[in-house]
Amino acid sequence: MDYLRNLKQSITTLSGVGPAATVSYQEIGIETYSDLLLLSPRSWEDRSEVRALGSIVDNEMANTLVEVVSHSYFGLRTGKKRTLKIIVRDVSGEGDGRLSLLCFGRNFLEKTIKIGRIYYLYGSVSRHHGELQCSQFELYPATEDGDFPKQFGKILPIYPLRGSLSQRLIRKNMQEVLGKVKYFTNELPEEMQAEYHLLSTDEAIRKYHFPKTLEELNHGRKTLAYTELFYLQLVARRHKGLQQRLTKQGPSIPTTLELKFIENLPFSLTRDQLSSLKEIREDLDGEMPMNRLLQGDVGSGKTLVAWISALHILSTGAQVAFMAPTELLARQHAESAATLLSSLGIRLAFLTGSVKNKERKLLLQAIAEGNVDIIIGTHALFSAEVAFKNLRYVIIDEQHRFGVEQRLALTQKGSVPDLLLMTATPIPRTLSLTVFGNLNVSTLKTMPEGRKPVITHLVNEQSRNRMYQAVGVEFTRSHQAYFVYPRIDDSGQSDLRDVTNMYEFLKNQYPDAKSALIHSKLDEDAKVSILRQYQQGSLDYLVSTSVVEVGIDIPNATCMIIEHAERFGLSALHQLRGRVGRSELQSYCFLVFSNELTDEAKQRLTVMKESNDGFYIAEQDLLIRGPGELTGKRQSGYLKLVYASLTDDLALIEIARKEADTILATDPGLLLPHNTCIRNTLSEAPPFEAETNEA
Ligand code: ADP
Ligand code: MG
Repeated sequence: MDYLRNLKQSITTLSGVGPAATVSYQEIGIETYSDLLLLSPRSWEDRSEVRALGSIVDNEMANTLVEVVSHSYFGLRTGKKRTLKIIVRDVSGEGDGRLSLLCFGRNFLEKTIKIGRIYYLYGSVSRHHGELQCSQFELYPATEDGDFPKQFGKILPIYPLRGSLSQRLIRKNMQEVLGKVKYFTNELPEEMQAEYHLLSTDEAIRKYHFPKTLEELNHGRKTLAYTELFYLQLVARRHKGLQQRLTKQGPSIPTTLELKFIENLPFSLTRDQLSSLKEIREDLDGEMPMNRLLQGDVGSGKTLVAWISALHILSTGAQVAFMAPTELLARQHAESAATLLSSLGIRLAFLTGSVKNKERKLLLQAIAEGNVDIIIGTHALFSAEVAFKNLRYVIIDEQHRFGVEQRLALTQKGSVPDLLLMTATPIPRTLSLTVFGNLNVSTLKTMPEGRKPVITHLVNEQSRNRMYQAVGVEFTRSHQAYFVYPRIDDSGQSDLRDVTNMYEFLKNQYPDAKSALIHSKLDEDAKVSILRQYQQGSLDYLVSTSVVEVGIDIPNATCMIIEHAERFGLSALHQLRGRVGRSELQSYCFLVFSNELTDEAKQRLTVMKESNDGFYIAEQDLLIRGPGELTGKRQSGYLKLVYASLTDDLALIEIARKEADTILATDPGLLLPHNTCIRNTLSEAPPFEAETNEA
């Protein structure tokens, strides 16, 4: 059986794939036939319909039949600088369409493209100096029998390229693989196929890559997208179904330890904190391991919920692991835990990569012997050397930063521990429907009492000075600020120079204020020490790259200034802004932008100005960027859909959900004959990757 996703043969067996192409393929993640088949064209060129030259306007792709009228040269007469210009005309006789083909670097065409002959032409046409011109084109001689040349009369896939790869090579390789597979095993039951007018998997994949018409292309894509979504739903809902059936019914009550802690808090918990805690308690007391996402906007108080929920199980002698994405954050959590929990007699440990030698050995020993209740750390927590005595509960902060493999490594350390994932990057509804179908979700929407929405200003070069004044006023009130620069890339030094310049500039601007420069190239100890001084109030402002993006909690900071705000994505902007507005003080966010903004950047900044609501912002983000970007590096960690679109395929998502539900309700074991193909597909080559692995 040849499933679309289990063809393990190496692409090096394909003709034309030498060492260079192999490396280039590898760079885009392609090693096997299946990998290649799953490469999605970025677009398709429609060469199916030949149109008269006369009907083609400025900035259009011409796909037409032409007769060569003349050859001439332009540019310097002498030397090699002159360029061949071939004038062609419409053969259909419609209008007097003429077109100049500018053969930059291709003067040799004089020999092969003959005057008076007829050619198929494909190229992008634009109007200059009153004539239609084309400098990027392909010409193929028309044959006597009127058959289309190979590259015509069809829709051609355009694949993303890399290194030595060319469209020709990829198309050829794709054809070869499609040719080698006699029949792709069907992944959907025939009844389902019929009901939703879908193709077989075999037809779908062939038509998707090499459609004859746009209808075929859409039909193929729809089939593949539906298949992907259906399996996603099926897998997701199967877990959920199991979980719901086995979870113990009945209320779970807070433990004495929890109550004691809650009573001692200087504030009361928000309504959503209380209801989330209730949901988590019920999971923790249930028989199935918890698998829950706690989502809440920045500053909504997720961490506190996590600590209280940890108290719920500590009385049973269990251990809790709390994992944060960066060392800075882990340390901050460890410190706040120490303040909050030590008085209750809870034994805490802090484990990151920078805990070394003897100290590390002692810590590991204490963890293994059960002398530590809560272990807080970074991904160092799931290195092989860490053995827990009785790990029952794993809490992961800012879960979108972790790859699924790392997560699995940690959950494998206990006998399937309870898992709480926290995220401040709210999951848009479409995503939570699909990817998180197997997670239960608790949401913190209400903010702690007394919080004032951050006031956001958009600042252009002209209003920069007013901004500096406003921030200066905040300094006189002993409030603090962050000045943030984008981190453009890790290797380039340019951003660093920017921060450094800015640091000097601001020193002049605020001669009485104390400041520090913080960026990712500082070592961990230096960063920690700077943040500590800032937290204690001995620094007035930080000049920083986006290292302060996630989680830092310093309630006295009231100003967030983001330079080159147009370069940040919405979720990063929202995260950064979330560093302020964390107390009862009125906070401000200044988004400084350069004067040339793309439409998209304009939209992003407007959304930021209009809203403080992380959920709204996340939805807008999805709309502005479209789903393609979602599978991109930064935001990902969620899923990799190849064919389906989270914004355009909502209808398909709904159908897929309904079908998955019906099947699970009637035949959860997939034992009925007509569901055999689903069962087989699931075990042989499930059509989606639920999550991508990111570092
Ligand atoms: P998140 O991780 O959701 O961004 P934190 O857990 O860091 O938010 O909480 C933000 C700040 O709000 C912390 O200083 C925390 O102590 C405080 N906080 C949490 N819950 C409440 C509450 N119910 N009332 C007042 N302050 C709270
Ligand atoms: Mg947090």
